[in-house]
Amino acid sequence: MNKKVNFIEVGPRDGFQNVKEYISIADKVKVIEGLLTAGVKRMEMTSFMSPKAIPQLRDAAEVVEQVLSNHSNNDIELYALVPNTFGAKAAKAAGLKEVAAVISVSESHNKANINRTVEESLAGLAKMREDVPDISIGLSMATSFTCPFEGITPVENVLKVIRRGVALGINRFCLADTVGGANPKQVRDTIAIVRQVFPDIILDVHIHDTRNMGIACTLAAIEAGVPNVQAALGGLGGCPFAPGASGNVASEDVIYMLNEMGFDTGIDFEKIMAVARFEKTVVKGNFSGHQLNLGIKCTD
Ligand code: ZN
Repeated sequence: MNKKVNFIEVGPRDGFQNVKEYISIADKVKVIEGLLTAGVKRMEMTSFMSPKAIPQLRDAAEVVEQVLSNHSNNDIELYALVPNTFGAKAAKAAGLKEVAAVISVSESHNKANINRTVEESLAGLAKMREDVPDISIGLSMATSFTCPFEGITPVENVLKVIRRGVALGINRFCLADTVGGANPKQVRDTIAIVRQVFPDIILDVHIHDTRNMGIACTLAAIEAGVPNVQAALGGLGGCPFAPGASGNVASEDVIYMLNEMGFDTGIDFEKIMAVARFEKTVVKGNFSGHQLNLGIKCTD
């Protein structure tokens, strides 16, 4: 078992993008800085999308600039999700060195989400790689396990998208359980195959907690040899194709479990809880984190 876990916070992107009421730049920055102070070393901090598509994150450039003005230090990895070359250029202009592009492995989900075929998205990714050569690109692969329209995602389709990404020089891939349909065995089996075929890529997992399997799937990924796990503070988030679904697995719940199990996360549980409590006071969102809803302090 790998004792070191490289936790990746995605709440300021995946969580906030689902919140209707605008969260001020000051509050966004406060949450992000609180997470860094708690020990988070890698974060998907916003998204450079069309403000029409995601009005909540229309302030991406300002948020990035403010955080970078206080954290020029290279021991943290801050990046943003981008849908296209335009977004990647905007992220770079704001000072980021890394972006995550996104493609759904499942054809119907990609079509429903961004109205493109997977092939068209792969062509867009190639264009991004070519047009913005001096930025690091990771690839987030939505519906890597299940699709709300097609059911279980065949592993061959996951491998196909990774193969195309590797051909473009991409070396970091995130297997996302976008609708929270994966079970721990499927996570383990998928990772085993992907690691066997592509032993040299960096793999992340992004797990949603729709069916209360988020924490089990997260642990399954770690035990299968993927120490790079994503989660969102407070368990914010959701899915437009699964009304009422809870969001990502909650960061503080993941950190609590891992710290208690003796993994080295580098994150202080009390500090991350304090940020989650603060976030709950300033964000009108769908908080599904268990520790947060306990109403008592959870220390040993
Ligand atoms: Zn997500």
